[in-house]
Amino acid sequence: MHQHAASPDPTAPPRPPADSADVIVVGAGPAGSSTAFHLAQAGLDVLVLEKSHFPREKVCGDGLTPRAVKQLVGMGIPLNAEDGWFPNKGLRIIGGGVRLELDWPELASYPGYGMMRNRRGFDETLARAAAKAGARLLEGVNVTGPVLDEASGRITGVTARATAPEGDGTQRTYHARLVIAADGNSSRLSLAMGLAKRDDRPLGVAIRTYYTSPKHDDDYLESWLELWDSDRLLPGYGWIFGAGDGTSNVGLGLLNTSAAFQHTDYRALLRRWLAGMPAEWGLTEENRTEPVRGAALPMGFNRTPHYTRGLLLVGDAGGMVNPFNGEGIAYAMESGEIAARLITQALARPDLASTERVLQGYPQALRETYGGYYTLGRKFVGAIGHPWVMKVATRYGMPRPALMRFVLKLLANLTDPRGGDAADRVINAMSRVTPAA
Ligand SMILES: Cc1cc2nc3c(=O)[nH]c(=O)nc-3n(C[C@H](O)[C@H](O)[C@H](O)COP(=O)(O)OP(=O)(O)OC[C@H]3O[C@@H](n4cnc5c(N)ncnc54)[C@H](O)[C@@H]3O)c2cc1C
Repeated sequence: MHQHAASPDPTAPPRPPADSADVIVVGAGPAGSSTAFHLAQAGLDVLVLEKSHFPREKVCGDGLTPRAVKQLVGMGIPLNAEDGWFPNKGLRIIGGGVRLELDWPELASYPGYGMMRNRRGFDETLARAAAKAGARLLEGVNVTGPVLDEASGRITGVTARATAPEGDGTQRTYHARLVIAADGNSSRLSLAMGLAKRDDRPLGVAIRTYYTSPKHDDDYLESWLELWDSDRLLPGYGWIFGAGDGTSNVGLGLLNTSAAFQHTDYRALLRRWLAGMPAEWGLTEENRTEPVRGAALPMGFNRTPHYTRGLLLVGDAGGMVNPFNGEGIAYAMESGEIAARLITQALARPDLASTERVLQGYPQALRETYGGYYTLGRKFVGAIGHPWVMKVATRYGMPRPALMRFVLKLLANLTDPRGGDAADRVINAMSRVTPAA
């Protein structure tokens, strides 16, 4: 029998040219990869442009709450210990002279456990899952700006340069019907489309590093509520999250509502805080395995609108970090799923006006999902900017476990929408009646 080279199937739809797609996703962090995964699953042609090469680092606490785990499960990602996934049971909060272990709540809507996974492994796993689902992932492609339709001002693609080592730096243009800004906190693409950060929304700054420590196999995420700047109690917290691999991720974050925000020497604060830790935990310079690195946390919708002229913002690009606890991964993944669901409907519409109507629903869907809760979060952030509020809250709240179980549900946004307990009903009602500004 003779072997013939496969001839093209005349009935197959034409393959899109390599430089165009239905949707371009800029950035393959958790937001971009989740968006791409869900779009590809719905059968759309998706091009993901990521400036770095995997595996790559991202400054993060690496802590995944049950909200993030739910998203991972929904993407069919195996969470095996041998791949570096390390489960946790809840949160340990230390403050006001009290040490409280609070298990993640038992809910119908979310699993009862969280996870740790470093971002080198986490982000690559998600990006590969998107590629496996059918998205075309191009690594080492740095997006330099939007391509606009002159008449409408609509984004019709992006310009990009291939980065070293393979890239020769020449500029290329990619075209698509829609573009996703999933390029993280600084989101140059959003900026180039006229969407700057809002200065009326909270912003955090956090630093982190890793230590080899006997606490590495701690199965609670540990948060320290008392960060002191001489005699001033700062709005923020320090964390020690065991990664289960011999190391702990250790860091601290502050909110921009404090007067100390601009002037704090974060590294000195970390050193002072760790100097008070038990010696046997080994959180010392000799055991530090990585440099201390920092980055910003854009919170409570601090870049809007989330849809304009063919561009949708997901994750940190849209400022979606939870203002109560600094968690951003779950919201990056959820916003990606919401965006993908709407885009799939929008691109099936026969004309632009009808497509637009669906896309205008994206900011609305985000407001309905997080709006009231994030407004509450902004009030919370404003309140704890006053040192006396932090002091009263830690001194009088911490010794009351029932209250703190409520606080955990509020801070981690973990409630059942229907049929939950009294705490769920109070939190849901508070989020519902608070305007989604
Ligand atoms: C110190 C610190 C600790 C944190 N701890 C936690 C935690 O424990 N748990 C948690 O849930 N959240 C935590 N967060 C928040 C979390 O890191 C972010 O919310 C999350 O990474 C947002 O995901 P993203 O996909 O939107 O953006 P990113 O993760 O920032 O991904 C953006 C991607 O876009 C790429 N990109 C950027 N520009 C371009 C370009 N021009 N062209 C092509 N690609 C581009 C980047 O290389 C990157 O891969 C922490 C943040 C900080 C700073």
